[in-house]
Order: sequence, then C-alpha cells, then structure tokens
Amino acid sequence: MKEEYKNYLLDAIQSKKENELWLRSIRNIKPETLYDTIKQVHKQVFEQTDCMSCANCCKTSPPLLTTEDINRISKALGMSAKQFSKAYVLQDYNGEKTFNIVPCRFLLSDNSCQIYDIRPEACRRYPHTDELEYPKRTQLNVANTVVCPAAYNILRKLKSKIALP
Ligand code: SF4
Ligand code: SF4
Repeated sequence: MKEEYKNYLLDAIQSKKENELWLRSIRNIKPETLYDTIKQVHKQVFEQTDCMSCANCCKTSPPLLTTEDINRISKALGMSAKQFSKAYVLQDYNGEKTFNIVPCRFLLSDNSCQIYDIRPEACRRYPHTDELEYPKRTQLNVANTVVCPAAYNILRKLKSKIALP
C-alpha cells in the first residue's frame, strides 16, 4: 500500500474516538438533507483514490455474501453452490456468510480482482460511503475508516462540510 494511504489509516486509528462521536452527532439529521453532499464528497474522493495501489479491503475484510452472490460466482467458476460454499465460505452463528480467508482468494498479485465483473454485492458497494443510510451507520463507518483510506478521507471532508445540529 502507498505510504500516503498507510498514513491516512494511522490518522484514522488515532482519531477513531473523535470520528465516532462526530458520526453519532449526525445520526439525528435527516439522511435526505445530507445525501447530495455525501454523494459529491464520495465522488471527489474516489476520483483522487487509486484502489489498485491499496486493495486493503480485499486484503483484510471478507465481504458478506448473499445467496445470489454464491449462485452467480459458483456458476461462473463451474462449481455447484454447495461445492463453492464448502470450499470458500464461512457461516457465522448469525447465519451471515463471508469468504473463509483473507486476503481474498480472488485478489490477484497486481491488486486486481479475478472475478471483478461478478464480484459480491458487498464488494461493489464498499465502503458504502455514497449511500442514503450513511449517517445512520456509525459503527460501520468508523470501522471502515481504519481499513479504507478513501472512507477516512470522505469522513474528514464531511466533517468540514456538515454543520452539526
Ligand atoms: S471478490 Fe474481488 S473485490 Fe471482493 S474482496 Fe475478493 S478480490 Fe476484493
Ligand atoms: S475501497 Fe478503500 S480499502 Fe478498498 S482499495 Fe479502495 S481505497 Fe483501498
């Protein structure tokens, strides 16, 4: 990972408590009133972020898998959903399913994704920073800032743009 991105993550760890408090304070603002700002900041930050120089999400955070994900990916790999699940999927006590190892087995050495076009929905949406529900997801957002340099930068920019109630 780029030094610059490592430094963002160190900053994110140091400011985690403060960021969590800020995220808590926007929970009561109507998400609709923040949505344009959130989408705009997400777009700006990702235009300046090189995910191919990072891939930290794929290296550290196994995505949640839906039944559709498992069916789609297993079919493309020529496996049954059952075979795929047995080989690659872990299910926790809540019934939530993820890939069973990190770094992700589909992450290639150049940081590209072997199954990019059919990747899990959670990979497509990560780090969930352009979604209407962003202001409501305090724990998810703060957790993502210490994994994803873009998520941290989005939060930093939002803090300078959103006036607290
Ligand atoms: S499926 Fe692709 S995008 Fe998703 S974690 Fe694995 S390598 Fe990353
Ligand atoms: S989404 Fe975030 S963690 Fe994943 S590669 Fe891009 S900058 Fe890195």
